[in-house]
Amino acid sequence: MNPSEYTISSLRAAFSAGETTPEEALRSLATSIDKKDGDIGGYLSYDLDLALADAENVDLSLPLGGVPVAIKDLINVEGHPCACASKMLDGKFRSPYDATVIRKLRAAGAIPFGRTNMDEFAMGSSNENSGIQPCRNPHDLDRIPGGSSGGSAAVVAADTAVAALGTDTGGSIRQPASHCGVVGLKPTYGRVSRYGLVAFASSLDQCGPMTKTVEDAALLLEVLAGSCSRDSTCLDAPVDSYREALKKDVAGLKIGLPKEYFAEGLDRQVREKVETAIRDLESRGAEIVEISLPNTEHAVATYYIIATAEASANLARFDGVRYGHRSESADDLLSVYQDSREEGFGAEVKRRILLGTYVLSSGYYDAYYLRAQKVRTLIREDFTRAFEQVDVIASPVSPTPAFKVGEKSEDPLAMYLADIYTISANLAGICGISVPCGTTAVDGKDLPVGLQLLGRPLGESGILQVAHSVEQAQS
Ligand code: GLN
Repeated sequence: MNPSEYTISSLRAAFSAGETTPEEALRSLATSIDKKDGDIGGYLSYDLDLALADAENVDLSLPLGGVPVAIKDLINVEGHPCACASKMLDGKFRSPYDATVIRKLRAAGAIPFGRTNMDEFAMGSSNENSGIQPCRNPHDLDRIPGGSSGGSAAVVAADTAVAALGTDTGGSIRQPASHCGVVGLKPTYGRVSRYGLVAFASSLDQCGPMTKTVEDAALLLEVLAGSCSRDSTCLDAPVDSYREALKKDVAGLKIGLPKEYFAEGLDRQVREKVETAIRDLESRGAEIVEISLPNTEHAVATYYIIATAEASANLARFDGVRYGHRSESADDLLSVYQDSREEGFGAEVKRRILLGTYVLSSGYYDAYYLRAQKVRTLIREDFTRAFEQVDVIASPVSPTPAFKVGEKSEDPLAMYLADIYTISANLAGICGISVPCGTTAVDGKDLPVGLQLLGRPLGESGILQVAHSVEQAQS
């Protein structure tokens, strides 16, 4: 087998059996990237020499000993470029330190390998906002891979990575995972450290695994989760053995279906696949219960106020002075700021900074930002009530399969509305996973569909357990 086709577990087994070595795996991955990634555009860069140096003394007995992991381009890896797929940073910044998630990966023996493409500063749902290069869906090159972690999803799906890290602020792990047919897990807010991630919306961002199997996601989460002295929002709760949870079956579990998530706008074929997966869980002994999340209709507006407000503050640091692009035409301090930001940021990033600055400005703060914070509390309370009734919530990830490149890029509102099923989890701070549940035939191509499973805070074991059952039903 070509080492790039391995999962984490099978690669570890192959190392133990002496069938391949970390060096050989890295070289063969690089060959696959060179051969296949030109059409897909999932990688912005990779550095084989740095990775081979990391592989030299790797301890194969560690949980991820010798396993290469592809990294979304907003996670700092010491000595590697970190551009957030933006002209603001492209070619102008190398990370001086490792993010906590990278430190944890390294401590477990993993090798960060390759920078994956994304929507600029993680703003988008299609990867069309990458400021560097387009990224395509490996199942149909005319379609988007999803976003913003589109590169991470695409490279795992194309077997040009064994596994990858993504980040999810409003769906950016789950939605591309769904569109590319891989597993993507957004941990509970605070489960994984955000130290060393370039911030988009600090109260929503979480980093998580994107993998070929549920077992790999469980293993990666065991490594990534846990407290961090450098992130005050990171929780000190004990880390479960998530792989142990996979051994349990779903009999007796209560699974809630929010009626608002199965309403108008849901594609017929997506609904069919999701409902089939849910019926299968029922046949394995789960109890299916209809629930209501009544504030769902306000989620998109609430998210796009809070996320843009936080982004406008976070992105103020890109001022042409401290790091990143500095305009050559600027001739005084104000024009350094203005021209550097004008030239460095793409259209969607500018739109969000403008929106966010507006909702925070005096006179509008109460009407938009403060009100959005109140609605956020209502959305969180919807979930608290739901989890008094059920163990896990099941729904689609996205209303449609991957759409065509260009289909929504001129209509930001249509793009934002398609985030309807994923953003509430971030507003509520709960965990969620997308697990493949079949494919739909569109224009002669089989496009993947993901099932979303949402769990209560720190309920990752529960959603992984159900996801594992869904995965088994597929095989
Ligand atoms: N699609 C959402 C947005 O554009 C979510 C992005 C994300 O999770 N980073 O903001």
